[in-house]
Amino acid sequence: MISIRNVSKFYGGFQALRDCSTEVAKGEVIVVCGPSGSGKSTLIKCVNGLETFQQGEIVVHGPSVGAPGTDLPGLRAHVGMVFQHFELFPHLSVLDNLTVAQVKVLGRPREEALERALALLDRVGLRAQAAKYPGRLSGGQQQRVAIARALAMDPVCMLFDEPTSALDPEMINEVLDVMRELAADGMTMVVVSH
Ligand code: ADP
Repeated sequence: MISIRNVSKFYGGFQALRDCSTEVAKGEVIVVCGPSGSGKSTLIKCVNGLETFQQGEIVVHGPSVGAPGTDLPGLRAHVGMVFQHFELFPHLSVLDNLTVAQVKVLGRPREEALERALALLDRVGLRAQAAKYPGRLSGGQQQRVAIARALAMDPVCMLFDEPTSALDPEMINEVLDVMRELAADGMTMVVVSH
């Protein structure tokens, strides 16, 4: 599903990744673990083209990420990303957070997008919060919304960048439970954690 071959990445003169290679099979769940500043975030951002890299190749479910002519928006639409600080759209309700890209990027009819969004909110236990704005939710709830939002795009794989490190300890498990279920359902996942 994801193939990372001999990838090196420089920020100006600073080398953040040195000759990184790994393979992630369909349905596999891997953790990228290491100290702060070791390049974990940079690595997964290279996987969906949020960062460029200078050497090597990354292939995600067919397309080569760094190749000229690769449809990066198209690729990103099917690579789910969950960030440390949730990055929900603050001016949209939870429901709109889950539908906007389905309609605008995938071209789904609004009714179908709503149905999918509500089913996913059920799955992460947040259907009752659908009309609220993200700022009214706890951190753990916001992160579960962010996971549901990514899943609404029917991703081929999911990238998690320290998904629980901004959460209070008592909220970590509600997010990990959702991630464990996702893994058990066969989702391909790359999880960055320190
Ligand atoms: P991690 O996720 O393991 O904490 P990062 O991938 O965030 O590590 O960062 C790896 C290294 O690259 C760090 O030394 C960091 O300072 C540097 N770095 C990250 N982003 C940038 C950037 N946009 N410009 C310059 N240096 C950066």
